[in-house]
Amino acid sequence: MWPSRLIRGRAGRELVGVHAVVRGLIDRLRDLEVATRPEHPDLTAALQRRWEELPAHVKTRAQMLGRRTAGCEGTHGVFPRCNLACTPCYHAKEANRVRVDGAHTEHEVDRQMAYLRDQRGPGANAQLIGGEVTLLEPDDHAAALRAMHRHGRKPMSMSHGDFDYEYLEALALDPRTGERRFDFLSFAGHFDSMMFGRRGIKRARSEAELNPYRERFCQMFQRLEREHGIKHFLAHNMTVTPSNIDEVAQVVRACRHMGFSMLSFQPAAFVGNRNRWKDEYRAFSTDEVWQRIEEGAGDRLHFRTVQIGDERCNRTAYGFYSADRYVPLIREDDERDRRVLDDFVAAFGGMDFAVPKGVLAARTARAVARRPQILAHGVAWMGRLAGRAGGVGHLRAHPPKALTYVMHSFMDARDVRPAWELLGQGIMSDDPRIRATQERLQACSYAMAHPDDDRLVPACAQHSVLDPEENLRLAELLPLERSVPEPA
Ligand code: SF4
Repeated sequence: MWPSRLIRGRAGRELVGVHAVVRGLIDRLRDLEVATRPEHPDLTAALQRRWEELPAHVKTRAQMLGRRTAGCEGTHGVFPRCNLACTPCYHAKEANRVRVDGAHTEHEVDRQMAYLRDQRGPGANAQLIGGEVTLLEPDDHAAALRAMHRHGRKPMSMSHGDFDYEYLEALALDPRTGERRFDFLSFAGHFDSMMFGRRGIKRARSEAELNPYRERFCQMFQRLEREHGIKHFLAHNMTVTPSNIDEVAQVVRACRHMGFSMLSFQPAAFVGNRNRWKDEYRAFSTDEVWQRIEEGAGDRLHFRTVQIGDERCNRTAYGFYSADRYVPLIREDDERDRRVLDDFVAAFGGMDFAVPKGVLAARTARAVARRPQILAHGVAWMGRLAGRAGGVGHLRAHPPKALTYVMHSFMDARDVRPAWELLGQGIMSDDPRIRATQERLQACSYAMAHPDDDRLVPACAQHSVLDPEENLRLAELLPLERSVPEPA
């Protein structure tokens, strides 16, 4: 406060003006200080909370939840309908009774993402997921993505990939001006021989028969980049059952140079629509699936260096190809690599690298100042990477292409339901199977927002417990104009 005698007259007005300028300057300096922090303070608080909530068994050196990320996110109750049929299908059987409605989708996405921003700070990866995302009109799809961006999310659209270039272009470009609406699009395409009704191949007899469709999916995005400069990140999703487990290695070999940046495998679970449970999904272990992925990758995949949640749910291996050689970023058996990762997490924490160059440089400088040894350790690590890739000459001849391998193992509804109900009562089960399910739910890395109940729900609990009722409510709210038979 200025003493009242000072703000009388011209001198007083000038002083008030100077005060406003100084205050504006301080505000801008404060904004700049926050913008150049490696982590936004809201994210720092969310990471701390997440770490504190995690069960003790996952608080390991490799754990990234609560240190680098608060977890991935997905939408629910937005557009549950799909026009293909999968066995299994994780959606409740009521899902196909719900009309796809753009206004509802945008409103719900906006609400859910606002809640996630509030709970988890900015910068999280969020999946625009429901039934089939491309059943949304392109403008409605774009509006949903914009809502996600508005709340600081990095959206990925989850699709079966059976759509045309015209749809992709209409999504990416403003229909009035022809200008691009996005500089970058991220999609996951789900392709496997357990899906029925794809145009051109209603029923694939093998995974190999789907390769041209996988290729076509990647080529659409490559064309979009060529014609409009819109870059992309593509993930490939595949459900693994006893029918196609022996084809996993072949799928990896076929897909690793197609243009995907992530190959993700989901061992099938008994969840969702019971009419679509066709096989003995527990006939093999997740280790066996991982082995098949490694066979296809051409090398061991080091998933124990970076853990996201519980190892029984998630395995992730980061690396790159130089020609046909896969080079893991961090080897489990090299303590020097693991120390570099320790340094990286200590220095950068949850830092978002997808920011303008100037901001990136300032954040990096501040991150390195927190852990200066990362410079020396990082340079040595890069030397080791180049050596493992076959030397600098080999890397020049075959520039590295990043590829991440993921396995995400959903749980069976018959375990999730009692586990979730007991957790709600604050009780840990004595039954080892249900207790293991509870531990995994507590360490979940993939959450969905329920702003009305002020809570985040693991996707397993969403699909096993909450989806059926939610879809019944949606079927009343958004009934189909005419009855559409469920895909066979
Ligand atoms: S609890 Fe379910 S949704 Fe969460 S990480 Fe584990 S498998 Fe995924």
